Amino acid sequence: MSTENFAAADVTEVPDLTLDDLPIRDELKGQSPYGAPQLDVPVRLNTNENPYPLPEPLVERIAERVREAARGLNRYPDRDAVELRTELARYLTRTCGHEVGAANVWAANGSNEVLQQLLQTFGGPGRTAIGFEPSYSMHALIARGTGTGWISGPRHDDFTIDVDAACASIAANAPDVVFVTSPNNPTGTAVEADTVLALYDAAQAVGPTLVVVDEAYGEFSHHASLLPLIAGRPLMVLSRTMSKAFGAAGLRLGYLAAHPAVVDAVQLVRLPYHLSSVTQATALAALEHTDTLLGYVQQLKDERDRMVAALRGIGYEVTESDANFIQFGRFEDSHTVWQRILDHGVLVRDNGVPGWLRVSVGTPAENDAFLEAVRALFRETQGEITA
Ligand code: PMP
Repeated sequence: MSTENFAAADVTEVPDLTLDDLPIRDELKGQSPYGAPQLDVPVRLNTNENPYPLPEPLVERIAERVREAARGLNRYPDRDAVELRTELARYLTRTCGHEVGAANVWAANGSNEVLQQLLQTFGGPGRTAIGFEPSYSMHALIARGTGTGWISGPRHDDFTIDVDAACASIAANAPDVVFVTSPNNPTGTAVEADTVLALYDAAQAVGPTLVVVDEAYGEFSHHASLLPLIAGRPLMVLSRTMSKAFGAAGLRLGYLAAHPAVVDAVQLVRLPYHLSSVTQATALAALEHTDTLLGYVQQLKDERDRMVAALRGIGYEVTESDANFIQFGRFEDSHTVWQRILDHGVLVRDNGVPGWLRVSVGTPAENDAFLEAVRALFRETQGEITA
């Protein structure tokens, strides 16, 4: 909230009140909220959204199911979201090579809320979580918000996880929660199952430790899902979302798959009726159209591969991408390059990884606009902006 808005209510009494004057928790003082810029430019390729609007028959089906749900809005929603969890389990079983049921699945408002519930349950004051950075910045922010200590673990220079160093860091820090993001954001690369297993074993060796595999971009990967790894590993959790592959970022629906005991554990912290009837109805409608939506995923994967080849053809370096975005570089000053691409009407993301930027895969026309911009930039500078 801007302090202007806040102060406007009582501007005569406390004219200079700012966030710093408020008695907020010490660990929040001086911090910034998560915020990818939302700029009004012709081509926005900065938040890894799916560029395709939902198909019209699905929009109709959502309207139908929501109309039905509206008739019961005087009542609280199904607190346990059983029908939705059953359908999510069916989807995972069908696409991820491992059978799960509703008891293995839990859903919340975006996978961010799933991750928050996991940290509220398994992290918290006096406990720590580790992630291997650069990775999804919200892991550290949700840790902060839940009072969980954050440990930044190592990677190789090529951004793959340095397994030996990571296991050593786990052994030294004995974290309560380990985050693995596959495919990783912002670098794009998937993590091998063997790496996840090595981290899981290293973590359990120092005490019972929750290992969260964040597979938000799993559907875009060249690799199979890591879901089968939950078998026989009660502290392994897979987190997924409908924001990316299902093209439904506005829906806010994320979910996890794990041992039923983990699902029982998060019940201790979830707010009652956290998932509205409207959300549940909409997500169920989207799941009825899974095959159509996964067709868009295939188009996006083909476009990604085309963009990777084109970027390499121009002369840029690209990190191996299993996601619907691509990390490219390398630049002496990535922020200047970010601005120059923006000057061409294309918004990409500067994730603060020195030398690199990230572009989401859009429609073919958006991707062409992006490639045109970076091609022009390369020509203008004859490659001298690349390090
Ligand atoms: N995990 C990763 C790796 C992400 O990149 C994102 C979104 N950018 C999320 C989780 C959260 O997605 P949502 O809350 O929309 O499900």
